[in-house]
Amino acid sequence: MTTITLVQGDITQQSVDAIVNAANSSLLGGGGVDGAIHRRGGPAILEDCRRLRASRYGKGLPTGQAVATTAGALDARWVIHTVGPVHSQSLDRSALLASCYRESLRVADELGARTVAFPAISAGIYAWPLDDAARIAVETVRATETSVEEVRFVLFDERAYGAFAAQVR
Ligand code: ADP
Repeated sequence: MTTITLVQGDITQQSVDAIVNAANSSLLGGGGVDGAIHRRGGPAILEDCRRLRASRYGKGLPTGQAVATTAGALDARWVIHTVGPVHSQSLDRSALLASCYRESLRVADELGARTVAFPAISAGIYAWPLDDAARIAVETVRATETSVEEVRFVLFDERAYGAFAAQVR
């Protein structure tokens, strides 16, 4: 059984086996939580990302997929980078958002991670409506078979925390 916990705070301050990054497909850093993870984790994360671009992901990491790197100076063993979909008014991209959670947990299982922290993927710069992002996140984690013991959603502000709390209770 996977326990879901909620924390309001900064994901870069969490002590867990793996921290999930809401990356962009370049894997070379960006704003939001991605920028914070690279800033606090230091250059080792970007070095790993560059290596992944040069080897497996020459065209970038596709939306909905996930890949792990070192966590550098963060208090975690790995960062799992996943690329959320940009929200669209006209297309239903929710399967891709669900895939981010599922694939991140699959990578976590491969690594042997038991505690995994997730941000609200796509709910920032990628403009996914928060309540729907929270619903997809919680439903997908609940429906995924995994050896991860704790999935910790780390929500940056009170509004995001409230949206996830409404789904978990
Ligand atoms: P995306 O491009 O997938 O939308 P963002 O990084 O813009 O990714 O935002 C995803 C979520 O992460 C948003 O809810 C944002 O408020 C939140 N966020 C930003 N910085 C942090 C952080 N340091 N820790 C946890 N969550 C964060």
